[in-house]
Amino acid sequence: MKNILSIDLESWIYFYQNAMKAKECSLTSSDRKRLDNNYIPQATINILDLLEKYNQRATFFTLGELYEWYPDVIEEIENRGHEIGYHTHSHTILKSSELLQRELELSIHFIERFRPIGFRAPQIFITWDSLVRLKKWGFKYSSSTYDEYGMTKIGGIDEIPLSTISFRPGNKNNDELPKHLTIKMLSRKIPFGSGLFIGLFGSRIHHVIDYLNKQKIPAVLFIHPWQLYRPKEIEGFSFKLKVICHNPFCIPYTINVLNSVKKLLKHHEFLSFRDYYYQ
Ligand SMILES: [Zn+2]
Repeated sequence: MKNILSIDLESWIYFYQNAMKAKECSLTSSDRKRLDNNYIPQATINILDLLEKYNQRATFFTLGELYEWYPDVIEEIENRGHEIGYHTHSHTILKSSELLQRELELSIHFIERFRPIGFRAPQIFITWDSLVRLKKWGFKYSSSTYDEYGMTKIGGIDEIPLSTISFRPGNKNNDELPKHLTIKMLSRKIPFGSGLFIGLFGSRIHHVIDYLNKQKIPAVLFIHPWQLYRPKEIEGFSFKLKVICHNPFCIPYTINVLNSVKKLLKHHEFLSFRDYYYQ
């Protein structure tokens, strides 16, 4: 049974800002590149080597600004046979489609070069009008919700949700948006396709994938590069302590999941969204 794996390719800076609740702090793209300090090229090559070792394919939902910073490494992702999707230009939360339009315009070189058909909204937050705008820009699918398995047409785009397991089976999917992570959602289902829950459950996710696959349902997962290969700035006990004080919700993201992901790659078969979409 084939499952779907995605990497949300973004610098650890965004996680740091989120974990410290420092979103209002306005770094420019060149500030972020300086702080990134060549982390993304190293982490991306490590991930590509890891996927190659286990003969697996994935979708890399990539920030447009990374193509400006490190064009060669983004080209390398495609050269190694993986899909390149879009994750906005600079990880803007899409509270309106005007924000998405601005991001798309900033990423015009990236869009023209890769012609991505797939989109992942930052923090899995998307509204109907943004999906309509994505269609106008040539996108075919989005994976920007948490829900039970099943593709739903919303705003002219095929929405492929990240995996959840419901406490009350039989809940029908609907086209209400957004479907992001909220306390209300957690009272009804576990969005185990989120990197946050891979951090929380580790390799135990393996059993959930088995459970779904036995019902002929693929698991749809995402992970961040900084969950696998950690820069020193977000490593260690003192960083964990800071996260507990500022944003304890982010604690599962401070756990290194490399060994858990290796186990998943060893025991399950993965493909990119594009391969799944066209198969
Ligand atoms: Zn992201």
